[in-house]
Amino acid sequence: MVAKLRAQGCRITPQRLAILRVLADSVGHPTADSIYARIRDQFPTTSLATVYKTIAALKSVDEVLELGFADGSSRYDGHRPEPHPHLICIRCKTILDHNASPVDTLPREIARAAGYRLVSYRFDVYGICPECASSDSPDAE
Ligand SMILES: [Zn+2]
Ligand SMILES: [Zn+2]
Repeated sequence: MVAKLRAQGCRITPQRLAILRVLADSVGHPTADSIYARIRDQFPTTSLATVYKTIAALKSVDEVLELGFADGSSRYDGHRPEPHPHLICIRCKTILDHNASPVDTLPREIARAAGYRLVSYRFDVYGICPECASSDSPDAE
């Protein structure tokens, strides 16, 4: 990430480095707000705008995957910036990566069959996660 940003002429400040670290380490697909909340204690002068600018810089070098939603919110994956399937819980909004599914190769095959050069794809599975489902059951009360 750092090398790619530097190659773009982007200055790597300690604040930016902290934002990169949260994105690279997080498998939980944070929002810009939650990234901001995690670095604010360490860098009280950093603004939410800095978080957005850093994310935009990373997106321009394909080092972060943005998952935009119809309500205008976005979640970010800097851990796996290439497109991949996601499992999304509609209750607690948890977003999990799904590994080793046929969806990883399917978009390539579809694109090839249609003569497209694949740029990206989106595959979201919406549901209720096991934790939320178990809190639904009367036994849990
Ligand atoms: Zn859930
Ligand atoms: Zn992901």
